[in-house]
Amino acid sequence: MTIKVAIIGSGPSGFYTADSLLKSGQDVEVDIIDRLPTPFGLIRGGVAPDHQKTKKVARAYEKTALNEKVQYFGNVDVGTNVTIEELRKTHDAVVLAVGAPTDRKLGIPGDDKIGVFGSADFVGWYNGHPDFTNLDPNLDVSSVAIVGVGNVAIDAARVLVKTPAEMAETDIAEHASVAVQKSPLTDVYMFGRRGPIEAKFTNVELREMGKLENCLPVIDPNQLPESVTGDWSERDQRLKERNLATMREFLEVEPTNKGKKVHFKFFANPVEVLGDEKVEGLKVEKTLVEGGRAIGTGEFYTIDCGLVVAAIGYYSIPIEGVPFDLNNGIVIHDDGRVEDGVYAVGWIKRGPTGVIGTNKPDGEIAAKQILEDINSSTKAGRNELNSLLAERNVRIVNYEDWQKIEKAEVAAAIGQAPRKKFVNIQDMLAVLD
Ligand SMILES: Cc1cc2nc3c(=O)[nH]c(=O)nc-3n(C[C@H](O)[C@H](O)[C@H](O)COP(=O)(O)OP(=O)(O)OC[C@H]3O[C@@H](n4cnc5c(N)ncnc54)[C@H](O)[C@@H]3O)c2cc1C
Repeated sequence: MTIKVAIIGSGPSGFYTADSLLKSGQDVEVDIIDRLPTPFGLIRGGVAPDHQKTKKVARAYEKTALNEKVQYFGNVDVGTNVTIEELRKTHDAVVLAVGAPTDRKLGIPGDDKIGVFGSADFVGWYNGHPDFTNLDPNLDVSSVAIVGVGNVAIDAARVLVKTPAEMAETDIAEHASVAVQKSPLTDVYMFGRRGPIEAKFTNVELREMGKLENCLPVIDPNQLPESVTGDWSERDQRLKERNLATMREFLEVEPTNKGKKVHFKFFANPVEVLGDEKVEGLKVEKTLVEGGRAIGTGEFYTIDCGLVVAAIGYYSIPIEGVPFDLNNGIVIHDDGRVEDGVYAVGWIKRGPTGVIGTNKPDGEIAAKQILEDINSSTKAGRNELNSLLAERNVRIVNYEDWQKIEKAEVAAAIGQAPRKKFVNIQDMLAVLD
């Protein structure tokens, strides 16, 4: 008896679930469905284009995708091409692995002005995600404000200030590469409501900012405390001490010939985006941190900027027919179990936190639960899904198709770049016609 599982989403959490199901040694048939022709979720569309080593994790997912028990259904949007209800009829288990594709909003006056972007859109744009190809942020500006002091904020800042030589071995989308290279940008401001201790950077990402060819990290030494105080776990204490030491090292970076600056502005709460229709600046309130919380001081300052990127967190979209917790932006579940035969993994389960590997235990838990809960199968699985999609003329992109698309991207690569990404779905499908 083969247990038929449909996994919606081909990001890390989807692939770790498939892998755990295969490793169980049980008789399973796993269909991985993604709305994009391209697999791997944020590995392709989120992880920074200059962090190619991180993206290599997809090689392990490829092994899973090529397993004979697995079928990739790319270019199939669940909700449009097929519904969850239908998948519950065709498969014994449905796993929600759809991630958290939208941004938390700034929620301050002026955040609807032209030139304010969420990081999901902005990162998607420079990574060639088809949803954001036409975003067209105006980089003909001398300064940019990034709200947030986590790794996504630092990724966006780094991509904006690296030199063409530093970006040569990346797969940044061509439209973004052209816009960044043409940009007269000199200053990027990163704002954190709380202090350097509370910032969420990991140390590798932070350290990189001190080693850039043409960019100087700037920190007000008065904002750096003598030591890490607060109630942290031993591990966090160590990480924070490392970050503090790195920020101290920034004070020593030789500024000679550096044309750009990234300013780390801590104790700074953006309160208003300034300008008429378009962004012209950001008004910020100075803060104090008390009991781990940022408290406004009533003292304000403004910086001029032509673009604002809000990197303050991601948010999942409610899924039709599935109970959703609007406050936390996740599905309602009991350790991953959502409803009979429906499971959640990754960011839709836990919220948008953690690194790629954090999704692995989710996959293991879901696989275990599926195999515990389901011990007989009456469902037709893949065959019925194929018929349903054929009736609807859905152009399924299977894994071999994706490999052809990838081959075409690699063949089109310029210089040392690993690939030249297709940035819209028609161009990807044209490779297959
Ligand atoms: C900008 C950014 C940079 C990051 N950089 C790093 C890094 O350097 N290192 C690191 O360890 N972690 C990094 N992370 C974190 C890591 O990417 C996440 O932990 C991980 O991708 C979450 O996996 P997921 O499977 O839950 O979601 P996702 O990776 O988002 O995958 C969800 C998938 O579901 C698909 N999908 C969504 N809706 C539907 C639908 N209706 N029908 C069909 N398919 C659908 C999407 O197309 C997508 O492929 C980064 C995250 C971001 C946002």
